[in-house]
Amino acid sequence: MSFVFTPPAMVSVPVVGSENRFPVHRIYCVGRNYEEHAKEMGFTGREPPFFFMKPADALVVVEADSTGTMPYPSLTKNFHHEIELVVAIGTGGKNIKAADAHKHIYGYAVGLDMTRRDLQGEMKKQGRPWCIGKAFDHSAPIGPITPVAQAGDAQNAEISLQVNGQERQRSHVSKLIWNIGETIEHLSAAWELQPGDLIYSGTPEGVAAVVSGDTLVGKVAGLSTLTIQVA
Ligand code: MN
Repeated sequence: MSFVFTPPAMVSVPVVGSENRFPVHRIYCVGRNYEEHAKEMGFTGREPPFFFMKPADALVVVEADSTGTMPYPSLTKNFHHEIELVVAIGTGGKNIKAADAHKHIYGYAVGLDMTRRDLQGEMKKQGRPWCIGKAFDHSAPIGPITPVAQAGDAQNAEISLQVNGQERQRSHVSKLIWNIGETIEHLSAAWELQPGDLIYSGTPEGVAAVVSGDTLVGKVAGLSTLTIQVA
């Protein structure tokens, strides 16, 4: 059997301390999962978690100790950063209970859920899907995945983002409205998780715009730093 054209290469992310790479299946994202960010977006309260997706080839994979680049996207004048802890699923499953969720996690990485905020806002206003605001090309920068055993307590780690050396976002993963176990419970009730799935777990407050030339440095304590420049 051969294909009618050359199929695209498997998207993969480097793994800290390994020559082997993590092959990516899907990218799930959690909306409004820190209270202070929900408030800055005009919402309050602990509503059930909701999800959206990005295509796997929207990843911008930044290798260890390097500075990645992402293009400034088309159609927007308000290109926002959202620093997030990314959970890498190693063992699939459906209807996973929060208490068992840790058995399904391969590791963690630092990611950015880049957002064309003006387009997302338009879609919200019109009750239309967010895809054009969230799931565009190069919208998901990610650093190397640290396996659970080396990651420390990522679910209780400090998370931060600097732009050109100035702090923009700083919080703590323990402030997630729906923690990682609860997020996996909700997500796996809706979709059967597969090895290779990535979950962008939500961003804390402080989201704001970047422009061409800006350098973003994202950190979650215990994980490999993500450094990327907007081209
Ligand atoms: Mn987000």
